[in-house]
Amino acid sequence: MAFHKTLERQLDRFLPDAADREKLAPLFQVISHYYESQERDKQLSEHAFSVSEKEYQEVLHNLKEQDEIKRQSIENLRGVLQLLDQRLGINRETDDDLMGVVNDLKLQVVHSKKLKADLQRAKEAAENLAKAKGNFLSVMSHEIRTPLNAIIGNIHLLENEDHLPMQEPLINSLRISSTNLLSLVNDILDFSKIDEGKVVFAENKISLANLIGNMKEVHLYRARENQNEIQITIDPEIPAFVVGDETRLSQVMNNLISNAIKFTQHGVIGVSAKVLHQQSCRAAIRFTVNDSGIGIDKEKQELIFERFTQANSDIDRKYGGSGLGLAIVKKLLELWGSKICIESEPGKGSQFYFDMEFQRCDAPVIPSLKKSETDLHGLKILLVEDTEFNVQMAQRMLTNWKASVDVARNGEIAVTKCGDNSYDIILMDIQMPVMDGITASKIIRKSNPTVPIIALSASNSTEIFGDVVAAGMSDSVSKPFNPNDLFKVLLKWSGEQTKVTR
Ligand code: ADP
Repeated sequence: MAFHKTLERQLDRFLPDAADREKLAPLFQVISHYYESQERDKQLSEHAFSVSEKEYQEVLHNLKEQDEIKRQSIENLRGVLQLLDQRLGINRETDDDLMGVVNDLKLQVVHSKKLKADLQRAKEAAENLAKAKGNFLSVMSHEIRTPLNAIIGNIHLLENEDHLPMQEPLINSLRISSTNLLSLVNDILDFSKIDEGKVVFAENKISLANLIGNMKEVHLYRARENQNEIQITIDPEIPAFVVGDETRLSQVMNNLISNAIKFTQHGVIGVSAKVLHQQSCRAAIRFTVNDSGIGIDKEKQELIFERFTQANSDIDRKYGGSGLGLAIVKKLLELWGSKICIESEPGKGSQFYFDMEFQRCDAPVIPSLKKSETDLHGLKILLVEDTEFNVQMAQRMLTNWKASVDVARNGEIAVTKCGDNSYDIILMDIQMPVMDGITASKIIRKSNPTVPIIALSASNSTEIFGDVVAAGMSDSVSKPFNPNDLFKVLLKWSGEQTKVTR
């Protein structure tokens, strides 16, 4: 019988006699098992120890890695905090432990919350200020334009009614001064509106050839005063009709042409519209106004587009003007996605130009002019206006144009009169006591969906025009109106029935 090798060795040494071994065999069997189990336990524990050592090394390695990541994260956070601190001007002791970083972050969160609240308050204050400015302008606009309306209208009446020849220069001077005052007021109010980005461009079908062609007639009088000749050049390739804002485009061109005439004596003013390129649905046009006048120094050529800025200090004294015209031109064109450009040489003249892209459209919209184009004979007009001066002036103007006029002093009277009579056109003031023009128009529209209602407003506010459209009014003329503009609008709507779709 074989026993554990250690036991065998011991028996060989201490009990070599085989008979003796035989007798004690069961005992040696037990001892042999004991040795074997001892050896197994030893092997097991050695194995177990080597396994946990490996795991331990792995855990240790992971911990080191985590520690490195933590260290790097803290470093990154610290870097960010330092950047933030620099920006906010905070001086902080550097601290490498995570709690310190967390505390710093908390501080940053509190700080940024405070900044956000401050910003919100500043934003609200700025908005309130802008609102107050807008309201102030709207009120001032109304207050200034209303008396100016009466002044300009009455000058027009004086001009067209019998007057002594010796009064002619006085009337002329009144007309020029009041027109200058009106254009200054309009420029200031317009600039604020454009500056606030409150301009909404109309999208009407317009004939560029007509628009540019008419410029000569509009500026003929001033051009002659300075002995200037106006030469208009219209590219024959120009599309018959395009979609655009006639009023704003005319405003830009009028500004440039007025300047060209103002700063040129005995010279030539060139006005042109040239096709740069066109496809079936779009056309890019270059508009140019050039003159042979005083020109502008190179270093002043950017400055003159700033508001209230003129090329030289003596310009105002010599030529007049507010320095707002080109600022308006620049802003308007920017809002339109275009840019005003200048080339000029002192003593030789100036050239201003800009490019615009239009959508082409072939079918023109021609307002039906059913009445004579020289008077408004037979037209029955309801004039709704509360200011005595304006009533007198408009009444005389309309009567001179041979229209018959009925007057209502407020919206409520207008509503009653419309129930009892039929009118061809209603001229409706907006701000009136008892009932305003917007409310009155809404009521009139319910029973009469077609009569043209033309708003007369001295307000500059864009919202007013939104209200005018919403009330179902057909058109608007802003006060003080140029009598010719009022005549044109009345002519346009005479015999027309409004297509109101509400
Ligand atoms: P205003 O003409 O009312 O002074 P503008 O903004 O229209 O204001 O023009 C600013 C200035 O630019 C003018 O005062 C004038 O110095 C200069 N300027 C504008 N157009 C011309 C021109 N065609 N020729 C010479 N100078 C011009």
